[in-house]
Amino acid sequence: MIEFLDSHAHIFCKEYGDDSDQIIQHAKDAGLTHLMCICCSLEEAERAFEKQKTEPFLDVAAGYHPEEADDVTDERMHELEVMIQSGKLNAVGEIGLDYYWRKDNIEKQKKIFIEQIKLAQKYDLPVIVHSRDAILDTYNILKEYPVKKTGIIHCFSSSAEMAREFVKLGYLIALGGPVTFKNAKVPKEVAKEVPLDYLLIETDCPYLTPTPHRGKRNEPMYIPFIANEIASLREIDLKTLMDAVQKNYQRLFSK
Ligand SMILES: [Zn+2]
Repeated sequence: MIEFLDSHAHIFCKEYGDDSDQIIQHAKDAGLTHLMCICCSLEEAERAFEKQKTEPFLDVAAGYHPEEADDVTDERMHELEVMIQSGKLNAVGEIGLDYYWRKDNIEKQKKIFIEQIKLAQKYDLPVIVHSRDAILDTYNILKEYPVKKTGIIHCFSSSAEMAREFVKLGYLIALGGPVTFKNAKVPKEVAKEVPLDYLLIETDCPYLTPTPHRGKRNEPMYIPFIANEIASLREIDLKTLMDAVQKNYQRLFSK
């Protein structure tokens, strides 16, 4: 059986209600050996830690999403730092910049992004980065504030050229559902061009459900559709792809 993983899933977010047990079972049945739970609040992260006790294939990341930047106070930043100090987090994220929804608070978004990068660096954790309509600012900040462990540019939606620039900084490029969409020319190009040892896959569930399940709620169990598409674009077999993805994931998150 091929071993899959999902490097970005919001399985404890409110869209799933109490379905997390079912979703975890589906993921295991589909052959996932790692599932990175991206928690956008510390409460979500606590639920993930609790579940992790019986489901050790879960990993946990927490951080303040850029859409929330206005609400992040010094006190909440301190609470995140306390959680990091507990040693239970595998990464800080998702953090970053989102100019698609908001352009009126760019400075605040940058400030919150940079503060969390500094926390990751201070405690030697990788970062998981969200960047929407903000790729150059994201790049410039990651270049100016290096993270020794580097991290992931998640749901990468920019060009193959930009992907190469992030790879030069040591960052991994994660691709999700959009790579399976028929008209997604750019993600398909990125899937072909990113060096195999810098590539990751993710669902970003509950959003961005891959073909042929578009329209349904996304789940980590759909990761094989994404992996299959990338393997066929690269003209390699699925096992070769997943062996590399597994190695990349372990390299990044090994403590
Ligand atoms: Zn996400």
